[in-house]
Amino acid sequence: MARKQKRKKGRKTKSAGRFGVRYGRKIRKAVTAIEERTRATHTCPKCERPSVKRIGTGIWKCAKCGYTFTGGTYVPHTPLGITAQRTIKRIAERGAEIGLVSEKETEIEGAVKVGGE
Ligand SMILES: [Zn+2]
Repeated sequence: MARKQKRKKGRKTKSAGRFGVRYGRKIRKAVTAIEERTRATHTCPKCERPSVKRIGTGIWKCAKCGYTFTGGTYVPHTPLGITAQRTIKRIAERGAEIGLVSEKETEIEGAVKVGGE
């Protein structure tokens, strides 16, 4: 027990330990906090398995089903992104209710007819 505690003493660097003593304590602390969230297990929105990995800035891929999708830079789903998706969904539903989609289609058809004559 005592040995474990002794070993842990002063070990706060975690993933930012690769930087050694460089860049300052505050920055290394911020990097650790971000990387912990990035490397945590994220569930796939398609197959719901916890195997989503970050493959680039804002690009996420599920290792199990191969589903690739966009999201936040360091986390697959940001609070703002969730809000935006909800808004888009609501607008799409409202558009379908009013019949905006069908109106647009008829307009385009009419324009084509005029152009043909
Ligand atoms: Zn998946």
